[in-house]
Amino acid sequence: MLNDSDSIHQPGEDLREYLRSRENRSLYRYRLTLESPQAPRVTVNGREYLAFCSNDYLGLANHPELIAAVCEGAAQYGVGAGASHLVNGHSRAHHLLEEALASFTRHPRALLFSTGYMANAGVVTALTGRGDAIFADKLNHASLNDAALLSHARLSRYPHLGLAVLERQLAASQAKRKLVLSDAVFSMDGDIVPLPKLLELCERYDAWLLLDDAHGFGVLGDQGRGSLAHFNISSPRIIYIGTLGKAAGVFGAFVAAQGEIIEMLIQCGRSYIYTTATPPFLSHALLKSLELIGSGAWRREKLARLTGLLKQECRSLPWKLLPSDTPIQPLVMGENAKALQVSEALRQKGILVTAIRPPTVPQGTARLRISLSSSHDIEDVVQLGAALREIDRDRG
Ligand SMILES: *Cc1c(COP(=O)(O)O)cnc(C)c1O
Repeated sequence: MLNDSDSIHQPGEDLREYLRSRENRSLYRYRLTLESPQAPRVTVNGREYLAFCSNDYLGLANHPELIAAVCEGAAQYGVGAGASHLVNGHSRAHHLLEEALASFTRHPRALLFSTGYMANAGVVTALTGRGDAIFADKLNHASLNDAALLSHARLSRYPHLGLAVLERQLAASQAKRKLVLSDAVFSMDGDIVPLPKLLELCERYDAWLLLDDAHGFGVLGDQGRGSLAHFNISSPRIIYIGTLGKAAGVFGAFVAAQGEIIEMLIQCGRSYIYTTATPPFLSHALLKSLELIGSGAWRREKLARLTGLLKQECRSLPWKLLPSDTPIQPLVMGENAKALQVSEALRQKGILVTAIRPPTVPQGTARLRISLSSSHDIEDVVQLGAALREIDRDRG
């Protein structure tokens, strides 16, 4: 070891400088540590807060029937899968869940992945490579952008919902294989992609469509079957991704598609092949979660009522909610520091709403991403509205 520290840079000096500059630009990220389950009321540092941050849209993350199903699944299958799916980690619990997911989303087959991030990486890299072309909405989730870069295909991004630009890009492409990537419900904006028009473009230009329904599965459509059911659309060119850690309340993700696509993923999906299968008891619990999603129309009806109420509550504020009919209701502040300030003021009143800043959202559009759950009550939303109006009054 050298102890002549004057003549040598301390390791990490450049990292510290980077971290400081991030803090100076109000971009520093901190984590809250929850001492309670995910629910409308969470405990942080011994204090209870009313929270509007999670993606637990149907209030299933702490549902007693799912907790019981996890215990039952662990007793039946143990706690760890012990191996990847292609070695000997593929359990009957995984298999039953794949069959249930295929049938629930009305696709020929479904395949489980550990996470949505990995499902997107697996699909995009298994289906495209050098010489192929990917087209992606600019506001897509980061996991789709990363998947596109990992694939080495040529990536063209189009403005948010800019289907005219997408059409020009598709028309100009000479690629062997074309793949369009889109969130179905945009995760930081809450708006829904105009799926019929998007699909029509994919058909006209012979492109596959990867539809990431992380925020629509369980929430939209008849029985919560997702965005495809919402639009009453199905097509063999759609590769549907649903996640299981948001509305479904547990963990994981799946791809639902034609049999050939699923076989391609089993053969070539690196994020499927080279990782340990998720614990089978989670799949066992997810079978119960699917039942609760399908039979719980009241949860989606309540979400719609709460969403309408929140819009009323926010009407007189100087900040505007983005136009969204999903439980994702972003209140746009613009500046990073402003979003942090309002988030902090809410926190002092016992309410948690995360400030979302670049690069998660574009520069100058920092926002409070309010997300609703069917386990919120009317009074919770009224309390949030009153707190926001008070903060606005105090600052003026
Ligand atoms: C959350 C999310 C993902 C990632 O899913 P995980 O299961 O959390 O990895 C992918 N796409 C979108 C649109 C998301 O919101």
